Amino acid sequence: MNIEQKADKLRREYLAHDVDRLVFNDFQKALPALQQTALYDIFRRMPKGRLMHAHIEATFDLRYMLSLALSCPDVYVFTSPETPEFRNMQLAHKAWFEGDIPAGWENLRVAVAAQPELKEKIFVMCTSDKENIDENIWPKFEAIFDRFKAVNNYKPFFVALYTEVMMRMAEEGLMGVDFRYISQTIFDEDGRRLSPEEYIDTVKEIETKVRERYPWFTVRLIYCYYKGVPVESVPERLEFARRMIEKYPDVILGFDMVGDEDCGKDLKYYAPVLREAQVPVIMHAGESVNPDNHNVEYALELGIKRIGHGMNLYRYPEVEKKVKDAGVMLEVCPLSNQLLGYVPDLSQHPAAGYIKRGLNVTISSDDCAIFDTAFITDDLLLAYICWDLSLADIKRCLQNSQQGDPQLLSIFEEQWKAFEEAI
Ligand SMILES: [Zn+2]
Repeated sequence: MNIEQKADKLRREYLAHDVDRLVFNDFQKALPALQQTALYDIFRRMPKGRLMHAHIEATFDLRYMLSLALSCPDVYVFTSPETPEFRNMQLAHKAWFEGDIPAGWENLRVAVAAQPELKEKIFVMCTSDKENIDENIWPKFEAIFDRFKAVNNYKPFFVALYTEVMMRMAEEGLMGVDFRYISQTIFDEDGRRLSPEEYIDTVKEIETKVRERYPWFTVRLIYCYYKGVPVESVPERLEFARRMIEKYPDVILGFDMVGDEDCGKDLKYYAPVLREAQVPVIMHAGESVNPDNHNVEYALELGIKRIGHGMNLYRYPEVEKKVKDAGVMLEVCPLSNQLLGYVPDLSQHPAAGYIKRGLNVTISSDDCAIFDTAFITDDLLLAYICWDLSLADIKRCLQNSQQGDPQLLSIFEEQWKAFEEAI
């Protein structure tokens, strides 16, 4: 039996036992059992190519972050009810305050010693589960990012956290990652905010350390701004991205705009400034079930070659044909799409059709810390199970993430061969 037949047999066996169709409707409940299967083991050991769509602010190991925070006597938790300034269960290193600790904050260690259940409460408040899905998902989702930014960006934590992230990515079989980032500010022990250049230098220093063990591993960045902002504020950010690309041409790939696409301002609204952009534009588009969302079409008109999600593209066959003909890459994030309420049943995800119709699809995890998933393994496996794909289909998606680079493709091919022989 070859690897394709072996995986397919294991998939059928798994589905025969999943009488409640949990894997399609609630992967968070299905995952613990799935992770114990031989099928998961095949996906765990598989070489993974590159992770094309991940937000650095939400891609880390939340449990490790909590253990770091608890190991430090200077981390505080906001235990009071939400205010306009602070989130309930928000964490912060004391250097973040640049002065006295404001009212409402308690020392994390002291608070957890008095109430051990607080640790679990913080974990729950920093993740998103299916029970949280309602029409107000985006404000809740965005609030989660606030809960850890003032602790993750403390430089010693940032370095520890992202060294662990990149090492584990490489162990998971990834050859690299393209991180979206929002002009993040790291701060040091004195509360000094590091410059944008120092941020990038810090990320590259971590990469250098990871490359000592995994020489092929690389990290690149996509600078992000927010959807929903007035169009007049965008040129300044585009100029910032241009300057950063000029300084770091091998690191910064381009410019993206993130956030709820149905915020009332679509890509047509931003098109006049994006058309003038002096930097490559990579764009979240089509992450919507709104029947009036034409962002993929607008992205195509702007000549964008790489689209985050493209979930609603199936509704516009002519646009889909253009996307295919132009070889536009779709960065599909199945589990994110389910948790943000776009696809209640994963078997109905349109990317199954995109892959079968030969579009340039890659698979990513988007915000794995918040969704409590692996960097890429869980999304790949769930796509395989729920979309009735072959391993050859999965391999093609992974190859697509190498963007035609012959050297990377040949490393990947060797890794794949070794993987097939080992299974
Ligand atoms: Zn995203």
